[in-house]
Amino acid sequence: MANMSTRKNKNRRQIIFAALCLASLAAISLAEDWNVVRPNNRPYVSFANVAQFYQFPEYTRVSRTVSLRSEHRTIRAQAGTSEISINGVRFLTHFPLLNGSNEDLISVMDVSKIIEPVLRPSRIQKAEKIETVVLDPGHGGFDNGASSRWGSEKTFTLDVALAARRELMRAGYRVEMTRATDTAVSLEERVNIANRFPRAVFVSIHFNSSSGGVGVESFALAPEGVTSNMSSEHHVSAADVARHAGNIQDEHNIALTASIHAMVLSRLAAFDRGVKHARFHVLRDVKIPAVLVEGGFISDASEGQRIATSYYRQRLGTAIAQGIQNYNAAVNYRTLGANFAVAKVNLPPHSRSISEPLGAESRDHPPSISISGGN
Ligand SMILES: [Zn+2]
Repeated sequence: MANMSTRKNKNRRQIIFAALCLASLAAISLAEDWNVVRPNNRPYVSFANVAQFYQFPEYTRVSRTVSLRSEHRTIRAQAGTSEISINGVRFLTHFPLLNGSNEDLISVMDVSKIIEPVLRPSRIQKAEKIETVVLDPGHGGFDNGASSRWGSEKTFTLDVALAARRELMRAGYRVEMTRATDTAVSLEERVNIANRFPRAVFVSIHFNSSSGGVGVESFALAPEGVTSNMSSEHHVSAADVARHAGNIQDEHNIALTASIHAMVLSRLAAFDRGVKHARFHVLRDVKIPAVLVEGGFISDASEGQRIATSYYRQRLGTAIAQGIQNYNAAVNYRTLGANFAVAKVNLPPHSRSISEPLGAESRDHPPSISISGGN
């Protein structure tokens, strides 16, 4: 009797084990497949599919709000809007999130150009170890940029860049400035300076001004076919969706932008206006990973006063420097150390990288872009 019951238990355990194996195989084979649908003739996938592919154990959908959770990562989104939150940081999507028949959908462009490079920066192709940082303080000389009773943009941007330079040089980077004094430099010249340096990134620093505006926003170059979030005179036109030189490194651009933006938010506790996309001149034509940071509104009574303090500008500069270092560490995660040459060769082509689930990569938890909540 005792024997029989033991055997029964053993059989039951074997059956349960086999069932678990089948279940996990099924999950993996599903996760490897993107189930692409084409509403409005544009490729989309469901958030459930994203959750499976990136192995988020928790996926919930409650009245149009989807939430994907794992131990270190959270994605939240709402159908009908054009933004997603990754670990509490806002990203404006390239196309609207759609409400499918029984699933909420995100465009394949947004998965491949935002979610993938932010969650798996170590898979970004042709990422190089960054040695040089080109800092671009906006405006200068006769061009004051925005002004308010608390000061002018050109003075603040230079001060932030100098703070970032100090921090980066301390960390061993070579730092080049498009201007280090109060001089006018054309946009073309800024681009030319940036394009002189290999193994480099370009960071343009600005401040905003407009009535009612508050908070920090960071821009990456809009990918080809995507409408800009900006309609100011600084870029070609909102209708321009053409490919530009800088689009060769879309994935690097968004990873760098996200990394700096998240660090700035966490250091300054500023309002998060989001990681956005535009075609500013300096982003279009720069051939190294590039970002344009708008570090707050000098027109806002309270934010303008904060920006006018040396403390705020030091912190902003330090945060930018730290964001660059986080980016460098994240994209080079696989290639640093003794296996540099081997790892470089083994990087999968980008088109394949979104067809492999995250967990299959390795056991040692490669990093996502280091982002944490702002406030
Ligand atoms: Zn500006």
